[in-house]
Amino acid sequence: MATGAYTPKEKWMKAAISAGRDAELHGEVPIGSVLVADEELIATGETMVARRGPVAHGENTLLEELGSRVWGLPHPLVLYSTLEPCMMCLGACINAGIDVVVYGTPASTDGGAWILRIPEVSRKIPGGTLTLIDGYLESETTALLRGYLDTSSNEGGTTYVRSLLSGD
Ligand SMILES: [Zn+2]
Repeated sequence: MATGAYTPKEKWMKAAISAGRDAELHGEVPIGSVLVADEELIATGETMVARRGPVAHGENTLLEELGSRVWGLPHPLVLYSTLEPCMMCLGACINAGIDVVVYGTPASTDGGAWILRIPEVSRKIPGGTLTLIDGYLESETTALLRGYLDTSSNEGGTTYVRSLLSGD
């Protein structure tokens, strides 16, 4: 469906930021996401990479938990993420039929939107209508990551976050 006119809602990104804080409490880098279907909160995701490995990004864990139910949800289906999703997660969003991805902080090193030149790529996928809205509440989502740098002693996590922010 055409969702180019979608207007992001502050409350949903704030919920994603809250999920990112939960991730940090669980020993992860603070990255969070939420899925909203026709303006109703459906699911919350937090990165679980430290616990479950490289594919357990918040967007993926959220979609994995929903399973095939994601295809029965009302549209527009909008995923909010505090960080620009990687290639893997954008692929998962396309497969899930998500209409819009709204993200805060651009990921300088592994940002899928930048690498894949979405939305140009999504237009080439039959039926693909994924729209990206970037930089939404970016100062708040970036503050979440910078706060992690100030307080965490996890070397792997802080090195990763520094690389994400290196393009500032
Ligand atoms: Zn990802």
